[in-house]
Amino acid sequence: MREAFGEAGRESLPFGMTSLPILSQSAVSPVVRARGLDEDAREAIARDLVNAVEGEVRFDAHNRMLYATDASLYQVEPLGVVIPSSIDDAVAAVRFCSERGLPMLPRGGGTSLAGQCTNNAVVIDVSPRCRHILEVNVGQRYVRVEPGITVDDLNDAIAATGMFFAPDPATARHASIGGCIGNNAAGSRSVRYGRTSESVIAVDACLADGTRVEFGPGSARRDERVAKLTQRVVELVRRYEGLIRERSPKTIRRNAGYGLDMILQQLDKGVAPEDVSLAPLLCGSEGTLAFTLGATLALHDRPKAKALAVLSFATLDDAIDAVIPILATKPSAIELLDDLVVSLARANTEYRKYVELLPPPPGGSGELNAVLYVEYFGASDAEVSERVEALKRACPASPVQVHTNVTAMLNAWKLRKAGEPLLHGIPGSRKPITFVEDNAIPVENLSRFVKELRKIVESYGTRAAFYAHASVGVLHVRPLIDIHDEADRERMRAIAVATADLARSLGGVMSGEHGDGRVRGPLLERFYGPELMQAFRELKLIFDPQGLLNPGNIVDVFGDNPRPVASITQSLRVEPQVGRPAAFPQVETSFDFSDQHGLDGAVEMCNGSGVCRKKQSGTMCPSYMATLDERHSTRGRGNALRLAITGQLKLDTVGEASQPDADVWSDQGTIETLDLCLSCKACKTECPSNVDISKLKAEYTSQRYIRHGAPLAVKIMSQIRTLNRLGAIAPEAANAMNALAGGLIRRVLGIDARRTLPTFSTSLARLWGDETKPSKPVVVLFGDCFTMYNESSIGMATKRVLEAFGYEVRLANAGCCGRAKISLGMLPQAIEEIDATLEKLQPVIDDDRVVAVLVAEPSCLSAFKDDWQTLQLKTPKAQREKLAKKSWLPEQFLHAKWDSHPQRPAMKPPAGRVLLHGHCHQKALWGAASSADMLRRVAGDKLTVLDTGCCGMAGSFGYAEHRFDLSMQIGELALFPAARAMTPKDVLVAPGTSCRHQVHDGVGKRAVHPMQFVADCLA
Ligand SMILES: Cc1cc2nc3c(=O)[nH]c(=O)nc-3n(C[C@H](O)[C@H](O)[C@H](O)COP(=O)(O)OP(=O)(O)OC[C@H]3O[C@@H](n4cnc5c(N)ncnc54)[C@H](O)[C@@H]3O)c2cc1C
Ligand code: SF4
Ligand code: SF4
Repeated sequence: MREAFGEAGRESLPFGMTSLPILSQSAVSPVVRARGLDEDAREAIARDLVNAVEGEVRFDAHNRMLYATDASLYQVEPLGVVIPSSIDDAVAAVRFCSERGLPMLPRGGGTSLAGQCTNNAVVIDVSPRCRHILEVNVGQRYVRVEPGITVDDLNDAIAATGMFFAPDPATARHASIGGCIGNNAAGSRSVRYGRTSESVIAVDACLADGTRVEFGPGSARRDERVAKLTQRVVELVRRYEGLIRERSPKTIRRNAGYGLDMILQQLDKGVAPEDVSLAPLLCGSEGTLAFTLGATLALHDRPKAKALAVLSFATLDDAIDAVIPILATKPSAIELLDDLVVSLARANTEYRKYVELLPPPPGGSGELNAVLYVEYFGASDAEVSERVEALKRACPASPVQVHTNVTAMLNAWKLRKAGEPLLHGIPGSRKPITFVEDNAIPVENLSRFVKELRKIVESYGTRAAFYAHASVGVLHVRPLIDIHDEADRERMRAIAVATADLARSLGGVMSGEHGDGRVRGPLLERFYGPELMQAFRELKLIFDPQGLLNPGNIVDVFGDNPRPVASITQSLRVEPQVGRPAAFPQVETSFDFSDQHGLDGAVEMCNGSGVCRKKQSGTMCPSYMATLDERHSTRGRGNALRLAITGQLKLDTVGEASQPDADVWSDQGTIETLDLCLSCKACKTECPSNVDISKLKAEYTSQRYIRHGAPLAVKIMSQIRTLNRLGAIAPEAANAMNALAGGLIRRVLGIDARRTLPTFSTSLARLWGDETKPSKPVVVLFGDCFTMYNESSIGMATKRVLEAFGYEVRLANAGCCGRAKISLGMLPQAIEEIDATLEKLQPVIDDDRVVAVLVAEPSCLSAFKDDWQTLQLKTPKAQREKLAKKSWLPEQFLHAKWDSHPQRPAMKPPAGRVLLHGHCHQKALWGAASSADMLRRVAGDKLTVLDTGCCGMAGSFGYAEHRFDLSMQIGELALFPAARAMTPKDVLVAPGTSCRHQVHDGVGKRAVHPMQFVADCLA
């Protein structure tokens, strides 16, 4: 041990120690010991753990690797994963690890950017189950919570109190309170509310040996153990007092090393040593000092009035120069975006609309190269308006857009919040990499810092994106680096060192809010010097003498101190083993991935930022929302696919263990991880990096079926059109057959007994009748499988409505869109079917008299407009694009061409409320407005668009026996409660056939198609 400390360690031993602690296992790092464990030893640990904890123990290779990454560049395989069922269970897990000398990594949302949430340790994930609110004390303005709750969940739950937990990292929707404490998180409004440490009153913690303690004001007087720890910490701080004063960063935002300055500040204020609270010290300690079991958090009043002013600038320098004058107007936040982020948002389907909210560039025409978001909180509208006026006086040359409406402000903020994840969508092999993204610089030096940093970055032949919490001088800089290229990695190390030195020379610090982790830990000694690093090591040993908690982060009490700069580019996810980059197989794919740099690029799109772990609003990701399980989030699936395809997962064979030709497409764990994906396409738009799991899942599954064949049930289900067509020949007999042979059908297809089977109707073709009205403009109804054979009444309703609007309506019985085959992963078969359908649609595509092709089922229209455009079909792209352009949902067409229809029928308004549940594909690709706009024309303000996310059915997904319960859980998230709350007069409108089926099976109510609703309203 003494060798590990070197000479400095011998000179200054922690208070009360005559020698440094004797570490078990002859002072070998617990991580090194953990790495040395073979599979048998690991399995033995897992078996014992299962008996020691109530929660889940996941030690298999697949689950381990799903926890090998956070939102950083790194990938480190953990020893195993525990998901405690309760706080007591988390303590049991810590005790277990402590007794066996196993390293531990506490984890919340896993959204850390510096690699501090990756380690070769037992990951203890408190985010799924330890997320309760324990007490809300309105009078004393505090709340007590468990560590796994997210900031937004907490604030939503206490909204009625008129107060809130103020620290607001951009990840507030999915970052846990434990993680906010671990990283001392802060957000845009830190200029007003400070960091997490300023809102933490006390922390309920578990020490590395499994002892439960509370750290807070007066805790040392109540608990002898805390008293001893406090005494030793105070002694340490006194001993290093001079250096702490001299070297600690002076910026509001600082998150480098341990916050010894926060202990010194208490002493400076005259707090007696025995009254010093150690809670602030845990803030920013990155899980290395104690395990947070809960926290008492101070609450602030929600502001009564707010305004958001968005200003545009011609140059980044102009924007930065404006920060100091703006600060004088007392804003609650000033946020900066540069031109790179704005241009990426412009190219993103989801975020384009937010760019349109930005003010015009200065001078009316020139370039918009930077944007400042300036927010004001106040006690009244008058106070806020006064500040906005002051802002306009401070920046007379900058065009400004002022928002006071809540929705408009939220929409404007969305662009700023998506700044970081959007950068990951940048094309080219050089990406804006996170390694010098966290500098905090005194605001008066910010402009100089930007200029100097630009020079540094340019001297290495690259450029950078800039965005910032400008009010507190935190500048997120992302140089463009090809992390796959060793020469660029060398540039990265050099830029990291130069930037850290520059930040320090300007009175700032390289870790403003994202922490040190693997990327900045090696630079800490450059900032603090060897003596304070020694103080940090002593502190670590006071709390964690065996070095078990997130070992190697901030300080390494066993290995290199500090870690060498070279380690910044070690354990990268693109090169998990030195000299062995992740390898991609060369295969012919059914989808075209060229817009994502091929399949390789597509599987590397997920950066781990965890937006898909949100619970609030939107559809992404239904299976995560219902399970709160990392494995069933979009990120879990993205990681699984990347790891499987690059051969990094130990392959378990499909079916028999003896099967010899297991390949990267047949990893059993990945198959199971993908199994709960509903292919809802929500991630394609809601994920800021546009990770498209439904496409990747289809390709992965297809590659496996090409090699190993598809199961019988998949083959049958993929023939949905043929089955429906047969059923529709004699629908009554077929429905009776279904009732009689339902058990057998369910057994063969694996359908749950509680699920009703679809019924057949007389074929739409037989009902259709005469369609030749030569004088009228023509619209064509695409006869999808459901409208043709199961719900032909929808087709007839569509015909009636379109005729009432003066069209000749023709039916295109052209075949299937291939949706079922695509979702099931039968891609070559889907391609064949789609090309055949397109051939039959050719006359419709070419006939200019056909003004629109109407598709009643959104998942079929999404095939036309999305999947058909990227599948490697024989039909020329131009034909597919032409068809996509003239294809609409019927209600979408009626609204869009409202002023040019040949005639407009009279409508009668509905008696009750009209509730719209949009289909996932519709919401992902065109928004629920594609149905809502027309319904509003009929129902006016009786229309409510439900914020329901996914219904849980998703084609064949919800039929499966093993997915039925999850399917119902997803329905219960929002759709079922809304449907149950309907009065008999209300109408539930759902364009998707699956959604209507799900409502029927889930709550026993009827939902109608928009065209049925409109037809019923024809006067
Ligand atoms: C796109 C993006 C934007 C971000 N913006 C911001 C921002 O504006 N401000 C900001 O401060 N950060 C930001 N971050 C970083 C990160 O999201 C926040 O710091 C967040 O608070 C981390 O929370 P988490 O639950 O994900 O923590 P995790 O990543 O799970 O953990 C963070 C650290 O805390 C430790 N930890 C977690 N739980 C516990 C526990 N129960 N006990 C002890 N230690 C624990 C972990 O070991 C780890 O070292 C951003 C990240 C991304 C990807
Ligand atoms: S899937 Fe998208 S939202 Fe989820 S972590 Fe990856 S990049 Fe972020
Ligand atoms: S397609 Fe839907 S269910 Fe699947 S990962 Fe994306 S958001 Fe989740």
